[in-house]
Amino acid sequence: MKEPAAKSFDFALERHLMVEEQIARRGLHNPRLLAAFESVPRHLFVPEELRYAAYDDSALPIGFGQTISQPYIVALMTSLLELQGDERVLEVGTGSGYQAAILAHLAREVFTIEFDNRLASRAEEVLRTLGLANVHVFTGDGSLGWPVAAPFMGIVVSAAAPQVPKPLMEQLADGGRLILPVNTLRHQLLELWIRHGEHFSRQVITSVKFVPLRGEYGRKK
Ligand code: SAM
Repeated sequence: MKEPAAKSFDFALERHLMVEEQIARRGLHNPRLLAAFESVPRHLFVPEELRYAAYDDSALPIGFGQTISQPYIVALMTSLLELQGDERVLEVGTGSGYQAAILAHLAREVFTIEFDNRLASRAEEVLRTLGLANVHVFTGDGSLGWPVAAPFMGIVVSAAAPQVPKPLMEQLADGGRLILPVNTLRHQLLELWIRHGEHFSRQVITSVKFVPLRGEYGRKK
């Protein structure tokens, strides 16, 4: 994290450098994806005292013991959903609302669920300020999914689960893609699950570090 050098920051320039150096240079070149990251003001999703670091190549604390993920990881997870623009997607773990804002630029409708109502209401306010009317924020246990809005062509889970929550598999549309961090004994693996009728394929993408998923299909205390 850089030290704040001056009071004013050129956030548009910092954002552009983030897209070039952290996302495109690491191999993600989809123009729609890059445009979404260029247009979402990440600094509005982090606490005011950390805005100077909003475009750093790292996760940041957002309060209440939670974090906003590293930009590249958000980009990687989003790219794996292969969104075309007309999908309904589900996000579990709204946190700051940043990932939801990115999804809002790439899909038709975004349903995002946050366990902590303080984070949910703050995220909802930022998303409303940005005029992202296709995002619906709910407070609750996202490990149960959101059955009334299912099926989803894409599901992204931003907290690490002990195993893939069964309700999320059930709520995935045929051909739909589910991306989530899963705990192993020693570390977490980012996994991509794709539904083919009643069958699912699983692909391990990379190792990651996320906060634990809570709720019924989350970590048991
Ligand atoms: N995607 C977020 C963003 O863009 O800021 C980052 C999410 S943060 C890494 C993980 C979030 O998942 C936390 O805000 C946490 O409260 C939330 N969470 C954990 N378990 C959950 C559950 N069962 N349902 C909904 N949210 C959950």
